[in-house]
Amino acid sequence: MTSTSEHALEENDVANLDIAPEAGWNALYLDGEWVPAGDRDLIDVENPATRTTVTSVPSSTEDDVDEAYAIADDAQAAWAERPPQERAAIVTEACELLGEYADDLATLFAVECGGVQLKTDFELQLAQGTMKVGAGLAMRDGGRRKDSVTPGKENLLVREPAGVVGVITPWNFPLYLSSRVVAPAIALGNSVVLKPDEHTPIMGGLVLAKVFEEAGLPDGVLNVVPGYGHEMGDHFSSHSVPSVMSFTGSSEVGRGVGQRAVGSYTEPALELGGNNAHIVLSDADLERATDAGAFGSFTHQGQECISINRHLVHESLYDEYVAGLADRATQLPIGDPREEGTLVGPVINESQRDKIVGYVNESVERGATVEAGGSHDGLFIEPTVLSGVTSDMPIVANEHFGPIAPVIPFETDEEAIRIANGTEYGLSGSIHSSDVARARDVADALETGMVHINDQTLNDEPHVAFGGVGASGMGRYNDEWIMDTLTTLKWISIQREPREYPY
Ligand code: NAD
Repeated sequence: MTSTSEHALEENDVANLDIAPEAGWNALYLDGEWVPAGDRDLIDVENPATRTTVTSVPSSTEDDVDEAYAIADDAQAAWAERPPQERAAIVTEACELLGEYADDLATLFAVECGGVQLKTDFELQLAQGTMKVGAGLAMRDGGRRKDSVTPGKENLLVREPAGVVGVITPWNFPLYLSSRVVAPAIALGNSVVLKPDEHTPIMGGLVLAKVFEEAGLPDGVLNVVPGYGHEMGDHFSSHSVPSVMSFTGSSEVGRGVGQRAVGSYTEPALELGGNNAHIVLSDADLERATDAGAFGSFTHQGQECISINRHLVHESLYDEYVAGLADRATQLPIGDPREEGTLVGPVINESQRDKIVGYVNESVERGATVEAGGSHDGLFIEPTVLSGVTSDMPIVANEHFGPIAPVIPFETDEEAIRIANGTEYGLSGSIHSSDVARARDVADALETGMVHINDQTLNDEPHVAFGGVGASGMGRYNDEWIMDTLTTLKWISIQREPREYPY
């Protein structure tokens, strides 16, 4: 295992990237200005591969949040008045700028969130995809006409922007998870206040401010307040100004955010955690199922809400599947994400590592067997395969968010369904079978928002509804579904001839 510091950036080097704004990254973005940190506390951004501080950003205060929402509120109406093609053009331009800055973004992806090149490419493609689809929403569906039950009346449903949108995002796919709300929100005539995760304030927030500024977005339409969720998050999510509170992150924090938003009559849109099952039925193509299982568990060190967390394998294929997965796990190159060929980088921080390692150790103490991996060095955790696992072991009962593949045997399809559904989460799932009708029956029985047959759980397409049920969230993202969240329908009726009232 390697965890070299050979490619470490020196402190503040990320401020010298081509994409960095004049002010460097140590700033808030308010009303089109890069506001320096001043006497605010600072958040150090650490490269998880080298454990060096690469830059610092301001820790926004509650006063900053108030100011950002007031600015967004002031800017929104004028922005909504701008022609839709103009709004779409600015989002499209911001999207193209992301492409132009791809090399610098790759550096930021690596040093801020430990993303290897494969993940960088994947995330940039997702971010640009969501921005393209988002831009297109500006020109879509202005509303509709409905017949009336009242003679002489015409019913119109007029689609209007929701207003100010508050956005809170996590660190694992920071650019994409922020873009998938910010781009459609802006295209649809809303203004935005964005709070990126404290680990990834640049990729999750300040980069978007930079490209939208360069694309010509009017001042105040997008505002970015980096900050600690546990310090200013309650204030951010209970604020009276926003009409929509979009939260992507853990179920535990999301529940509180949703409750606070509702308490302020703000519509919550919650994309939360997952504990996703990869089900290999008795008639599966074992090679395909194993390839898919490895990709779904180990990509970006398993740090995706839609990663495979649990492998459920028919008992007749179990031993061969475990051996194949272990073989694939041991072949994945681990190291600094900026070293060519690296496929597994570091996890984001010590507390995540300790949680993951704790779940593995406790499960092994309770009878699980390590078939591959099982150790760590710094924040680098070896891709790990565990056999002899049961559903009550911590590595299965919790969303582990690490490069760990616990494999559980089952006897019947019904048992697989029961195990898969034995969680409060309901995000993604995958099923392998050579009989698509059989797999489809299992898909129908899974209590998740998304299921992928003969593939793995990691799928997201910018024009397809994305989201979960239960503790995995409320609402759907992408295309027309996020448009519903980010707009409101007003019923305007016109009584075209005198109406007969009962008195
Ligand atoms: P987290 O909930 O700890 O943090 C997410 C965001 O919430 C961060 O910006 C954080 O600063 C903020 N926050 C923390 N406390 C807050 C508070 N009291 N009020 C308001 N905001 C607060 O999540 P995480 O550990 O950073 O991210 C991993 C989690 O996100 C996993 O559970 C993963 O499954 C989930 N996730 C879900 C999706 C999805 O689309 N469903 C996508 C990615 C990640």
